[in-house]
Amino acid sequence: MKEIKRLAGWIKQSDFTVVLTGAGMSTESGLPDFRSKSGWWKSYDPSALASVDAMKTNYPLFHEFYCMRIKALEECQPHRGHYILAEWEKKGLIHSIATQNVDGFHRAAGSVNVHELHGSLRSIRCLGCGMRGGVEDFINKAGCRSCGKNLRPEVVLFGEMLPADAWDSAINDIGKADLVIVIGTSLQVYPANQLPSLTKGRKVIINCEVPAGRSKFDMVVKGKAGDVLAELKRMV
Ligand code: NAD
Repeated sequence: MKEIKRLAGWIKQSDFTVVLTGAGMSTESGLPDFRSKSGWWKSYDPSALASVDAMKTNYPLFHEFYCMRIKALEECQPHRGHYILAEWEKKGLIHSIATQNVDGFHRAAGSVNVHELHGSLRSIRCLGCGMRGGVEDFINKAGCRSCGKNLRPEVVLFGEMLPADAWDSAINDIGKADLVIVIGTSLQVYPANQLPSLTKGRKVIINCEVPAGRSKFDMVVKGKAGDVLAELKRMV
Protein backbone atom coordinates (compact mmCIF):
# COMPACT_ATOMS: atom_id res chain seq x y z
CA MET A 1 0.00 0.00 0.00
CA LYS A 2 1.51 3.32 -1.05
CA GLU A 3 0.43 5.16 2.16
CA ILE A 4 2.31 2.66 4.32
CA LYS A 5 5.46 3.13 2.28
CA ARG A 6 5.14 6.91 2.57
CA LEU A 7 4.49 6.68 6.32
CA ALA A 8 7.57 4.47 6.75
CA GLY A 9 9.58 7.25 5.09
CA TRP A 10 8.09 9.86 7.43
CA ILE A 11 8.95 7.71 10.49
CA LYS A 12 12.55 7.40 9.31
CA GLN A 13 12.81 11.17 8.67
CA SER A 14 11.21 12.22 11.95
CA ASP A 15 13.36 13.21 14.94
CA PHE A 16 10.51 13.12 17.43
CA THR A 17 7.51 10.84 16.87
CA VAL A 18 4.66 10.46 19.34
CA VAL A 19 1.98 7.75 19.09
CA LEU A 20 -1.56 8.25 20.41
CA THR A 21 -3.54 5.05 20.86
CA GLY A 22 -7.18 4.24 21.58
CA ALA A 23 -9.25 1.15 22.21
CA GLY A 24 -8.82 0.00 18.58
CA MET A 25 -5.15 -0.66 19.38
CA SER A 26 -6.25 -3.53 21.64
CA THR A 27 -9.15 -5.13 19.75
CA GLU A 28 -6.70 -7.55 18.08
CA SER A 29 -5.78 -8.67 21.62
CA GLY A 30 -9.41 -9.67 22.07
CA LEU A 31 -10.60 -6.65 24.09
CA PRO A 32 -13.69 -4.94 22.66
CA ASP A 33 -13.46 -1.22 21.97
CA PHE A 34 -16.32 1.08 22.92
CA ARG A 35 -17.91 2.45 19.78
CA SER A 36 -17.50 0.07 16.87
CA LYS A 37 -20.11 -2.56 15.94
CA SER A 38 -18.98 -5.08 18.56
CA GLY A 39 -17.93 -2.45 21.15
CA TRP A 40 -18.98 -2.31 24.81
CA TRP A 41 -21.36 0.60 24.23
CA LYS A 42 -23.59 -1.49 21.97
CA SER A 43 -24.55 -3.46 25.08
CA TYR A 44 -24.16 -0.85 27.84
CA ASP A 45 -24.82 2.84 28.38
CA PRO A 46 -21.57 4.57 29.40
CA SER A 47 -23.19 7.21 31.55
CA ALA A 48 -24.93 4.43 33.51
CA LEU A 49 -21.69 2.54 34.19
CA ALA A 50 -18.42 4.42 33.72
CA SER A 51 -19.29 7.66 35.42
CA VAL A 52 -18.80 9.28 38.81
CA ASP A 53 -22.56 9.32 39.15
CA ALA A 54 -22.82 5.55 38.57
CA MET A 55 -20.05 4.86 41.09
CA LYS A 56 -21.82 6.95 43.75
CA THR A 57 -25.43 5.97 43.10
CA ASN A 58 -25.16 2.37 41.85
CA TYR A 59 -21.90 0.91 43.14
CA PRO A 60 -22.97 -2.76 42.59
CA LEU A 61 -23.54 -2.14 38.86
CA PHE A 62 -20.35 -0.05 38.58
CA HIS A 63 -18.45 -2.84 40.37
CA GLU A 64 -19.89 -5.54 38.12
CA PHE A 65 -18.94 -3.65 34.94
CA TYR A 66 -15.35 -3.06 36.05
CA CYS A 67 -14.93 -6.61 37.40
CA MET A 68 -15.96 -7.84 33.96
CA ARG A 69 -13.41 -5.57 32.28
CA ILE A 70 -10.61 -6.55 34.69
CA LYS A 71 -11.37 -10.25 34.23
CA ALA A 72 -11.39 -9.79 30.44
CA LEU A 73 -7.76 -8.63 30.74
CA GLU A 74 -6.72 -11.96 32.28
CA GLU A 75 -7.58 -13.76 29.05
CA CYS A 76 -5.81 -11.30 26.74
CA GLN A 77 -2.27 -10.25 26.00
CA PRO A 78 -0.51 -7.55 24.03
CA HIS A 79 -0.36 -8.36 20.30
CA ARG A 80 2.44 -7.91 17.77
CA GLY A 81 1.53 -4.23 17.24
CA HIS A 82 2.18 -3.43 20.92
CA TYR A 83 5.56 -5.21 20.69
CA ILE A 84 6.50 -3.35 17.50
CA LEU A 85 5.86 0.00 19.21
CA ALA A 86 7.98 -1.09 22.21
CA GLU A 87 10.80 -2.11 19.86
CA TRP A 88 10.57 1.25 18.04
CA GLU A 89 10.94 3.12 21.34
CA LYS A 90 14.13 1.15 22.10
CA LYS A 91 15.45 1.89 18.61
CA GLY A 92 14.65 5.61 18.99
CA LEU A 93 12.07 5.55 16.18
CA ILE A 94 9.34 6.82 18.51
CA HIS A 95 9.69 8.93 21.63
CA SER A 96 6.56 8.08 23.59
CA ILE A 97 3.02 6.74 23.55
CA ALA A 98 0.03 8.65 24.91
CA THR A 99 -2.75 6.13 25.37
CA GLN A 100 -6.44 6.32 26.18
CA ASN A 101 -6.33 2.61 26.96
CA VAL A 102 -6.59 1.35 30.50
CA ASP A 103 -5.41 -2.21 29.77
CA GLY A 104 -1.70 -1.70 30.49
CA PHE A 105 -0.69 -3.54 27.29
CA HIS A 106 1.87 -0.99 26.10
CA ARG A 107 3.88 -1.35 29.31
CA ALA A 108 3.35 -5.13 29.33
CA ALA A 109 4.88 -5.26 25.83
CA GLY A 110 7.94 -3.31 27.02
CA SER A 111 7.15 0.32 26.19
CA VAL A 112 8.56 2.57 28.92
CA ASN A 113 7.61 6.11 27.99
CA VAL A 114 3.83 5.66 28.21
CA HIS A 115 1.40 8.39 29.27
CA GLU A 116 -1.76 6.66 30.49
CA LEU A 117 -4.27 9.45 29.94
CA HIS A 118 -7.24 7.51 31.32
CA GLY A 119 -5.44 5.62 34.09
CA SER A 120 -5.23 1.85 34.44
CA LEU A 121 -7.55 -1.02 35.30
CA ARG A 122 -4.60 -2.68 37.00
CA SER A 123 -4.42 -0.09 39.75
CA ILE A 124 -7.00 0.15 42.56
CA ARG A 125 -7.62 2.79 45.22
CA CYS A 126 -10.11 3.52 47.96
CA LEU A 127 -12.78 5.98 46.94
CA GLY A 128 -12.89 7.23 50.53
CA CYS A 129 -9.30 7.75 51.77
CA GLY A 130 -7.47 7.20 48.47
CA MET A 131 -5.24 4.40 49.82
CA ARG A 132 -4.00 1.87 47.25
CA GLY A 133 -5.73 -1.49 47.28
CA GLY A 134 -5.33 -4.83 45.53
CA VAL A 135 -7.14 -5.99 42.40
CA GLU A 136 -8.25 -9.14 44.27
CA ASP A 137 -9.78 -7.04 47.07
CA PHE A 138 -11.72 -5.03 44.48
CA ILE A 139 -12.99 -8.16 42.72
CA ASN A 140 -13.97 -9.77 46.04
CA LYS A 141 -15.80 -6.59 47.08
CA ALA A 142 -13.58 -6.27 50.15
CA GLY A 143 -13.58 -2.75 51.53
CA CYS A 144 -10.48 -0.59 51.93
CA ARG A 145 -8.07 -2.15 54.45
CA SER A 146 -7.60 1.25 56.07
CA CYS A 147 -11.07 2.84 56.24
CA GLY A 148 -13.45 0.12 54.99
CA LYS A 149 -14.94 2.21 52.16
CA ASN A 150 -15.48 0.85 48.64
CA LEU A 151 -12.57 0.38 46.22
CA ARG A 152 -12.42 1.54 42.62
CA PRO A 153 -10.08 1.12 39.66
CA GLU A 154 -7.83 4.10 38.97
CA VAL A 155 -9.44 4.86 35.64
CA VAL A 156 -10.80 8.21 34.55
CA LEU A 157 -14.60 8.12 34.69
CA PHE A 158 -16.94 10.38 32.75
CA GLY A 159 -17.06 13.50 34.90
CA GLU A 160 -13.44 13.28 36.14
CA MET A 161 -10.27 15.17 35.24
CA LEU A 162 -7.39 13.41 33.51
CA PRO A 163 -4.28 12.69 35.66
CA ALA A 164 -2.25 15.90 35.41
CA ASP A 165 1.16 14.22 35.06
CA ALA A 166 0.11 12.04 32.10
CA TRP A 167 -1.75 14.90 30.41
CA ASP A 168 1.10 17.42 30.86
CA SER A 169 3.69 14.92 29.59
CA ALA A 170 1.55 14.12 26.54
CA ILE A 171 1.06 17.80 25.69
CA ASN A 172 4.75 18.47 26.16
CA ASP A 173 5.77 15.59 23.87
CA ILE A 174 3.18 16.41 21.21
CA GLY A 175 4.35 20.03 21.24
CA LYS A 176 7.85 18.82 20.32
CA ALA A 177 6.74 16.19 17.81
CA ASP A 178 7.33 16.42 14.10
CA LEU A 179 5.16 13.32 13.56
CA VAL A 180 2.09 12.16 15.50
CA ILE A 181 0.67 8.73 14.66
CA VAL A 182 -2.85 8.16 15.96
CA ILE A 183 -3.92 4.51 16.14
CA GLY A 184 -7.38 3.00 16.75
CA THR A 185 -9.36 5.83 18.24
CA SER A 186 -12.68 7.34 17.20
CA LEU A 187 -11.41 10.70 18.53
CA GLN A 188 -14.73 11.24 20.24
CA VAL A 189 -13.52 11.45 23.82
CA TYR A 190 -12.55 14.92 25.05
CA PRO A 191 -9.90 16.10 25.88
CA ALA A 192 -7.67 13.33 24.46
CA ASN A 193 -9.18 13.97 21.01
CA GLN A 194 -7.63 17.47 21.09
CA LEU A 195 -4.06 16.16 21.28
CA PRO A 196 -3.36 15.56 17.56
CA SER A 197 -4.20 19.18 16.74
CA LEU A 198 -1.49 20.40 19.15
CA THR A 199 1.38 19.27 16.96
CA LYS A 200 3.13 21.47 14.43
CA GLY A 201 4.28 18.28 12.73
CA ARG A 202 2.61 15.76 10.47
CA LYS A 203 -0.48 13.90 11.65
CA VAL A 204 -1.39 10.40 10.54
CA ILE A 205 -4.31 8.23 11.59
CA ILE A 206 -4.36 4.43 11.34
CA ASN A 207 -7.86 3.04 11.78
CA CYS A 208 -9.89 0.16 10.40
CA GLU A 209 -12.79 2.53 9.64
CA VAL A 210 -12.32 5.95 8.10
CA PRO A 211 -12.86 8.20 11.13
CA ALA A 212 -14.77 11.49 11.32
CA GLY A 213 -12.36 14.43 11.12
CA ARG A 214 -10.06 12.71 8.60
CA SER A 215 -9.46 16.05 6.86
CA LYS A 216 -7.42 17.19 9.88
CA PHE A 217 -4.83 14.53 9.07
CA ASP A 218 -2.00 14.58 6.55
CA MET A 219 -2.58 10.89 5.91
CA VAL A 220 -5.24 8.28 6.70
CA VAL A 221 -4.17 4.64 6.65
CA LYS A 222 -7.17 2.33 6.61
CA GLY A 223 -6.34 -1.02 8.19
CA LYS A 224 -5.95 -2.96 11.39
CA ALA A 225 -3.36 -1.65 13.82
CA GLY A 226 -1.42 -4.93 14.02
CA ASP A 227 -1.37 -5.46 10.25
CA VAL A 228 -0.32 -1.89 9.46
CA LEU A 229 2.41 -1.85 12.13
CA ALA A 230 3.74 -5.21 10.94
CA GLU A 231 3.90 -3.87 7.37
CA LEU A 232 5.60 -0.68 8.56
CA LYS A 233 8.11 -2.71 10.59
CA ARG A 234 9.30 -4.36 7.38
CA MET A 235 9.97 -0.93 5.85
CA VAL A 236 11.55 1.18 8.60
P1 NAD B 1 -13.58 3.92 20.53
O1 NAD B 1 -14.23 2.62 20.82
O2 NAD B 1 -14.40 5.14 20.60
O3 NAD B 1 -12.94 3.86 19.07
C1 NAD B 1 -12.16 2.80 18.64
C2 NAD B 1 -11.71 3.07 17.23
O4 NAD B 1 -10.76 2.09 16.86
C3 NAD B 1 -12.86 3.01 16.21
O5 NAD B 1 -12.74 4.12 15.34
C4 NAD B 1 -12.60 1.70 15.47
O6 NAD B 1 -12.98 1.79 14.11
C5 NAD B 1 -11.10 1.56 15.59
N1 NAD B 1 -10.60 0.18 15.59
C6 NAD B 1 -11.16 -0.92 16.14
N2 NAD B 1 -10.36 -1.98 15.96
C7 NAD B 1 -9.27 -1.54 15.28
C8 NAD B 1 -8.09 -2.16 14.81
N3 NAD B 1 -7.85 -3.47 14.99
N4 NAD B 1 -7.17 -1.40 14.18
C9 NAD B 1 -7.39 -0.07 13.96
N5 NAD B 1 -8.50 0.57 14.38
C10 NAD B 1 -9.42 -0.15 15.04
O7 NAD B 1 -12.31 4.04 21.48
P2 NAD B 1 -11.45 5.32 21.95
O8 NAD B 1 -11.43 6.34 20.87
O9 NAD B 1 -10.20 4.80 22.52
O10 NAD B 1 -12.27 5.98 23.13
C11 NAD B 1 -13.03 5.28 24.04
C12 NAD B 1 -12.63 5.19 25.47
O11 NAD B 1 -12.53 3.82 25.57
C13 NAD B 1 -11.34 5.66 26.00
O12 NAD B 1 -11.62 6.49 27.06
C14 NAD B 1 -10.66 4.38 26.59
O13 NAD B 1 -10.19 4.65 27.89
C15 NAD B 1 -11.74 3.40 26.67
N6 NAD B 1 -11.51 1.98 26.36
C16 NAD B 1 -10.31 1.40 26.57
C17 NAD B 1 -10.12 0.06 26.27
C18 NAD B 1 -8.78 -0.56 26.54
O14 NAD B 1 -8.09 -0.11 27.44
N7 NAD B 1 -8.39 -1.55 25.75
C19 NAD B 1 -11.16 -0.70 25.72
C20 NAD B 1 -12.40 -0.06 25.52
C21 NAD B 1 -12.54 1.28 25.83
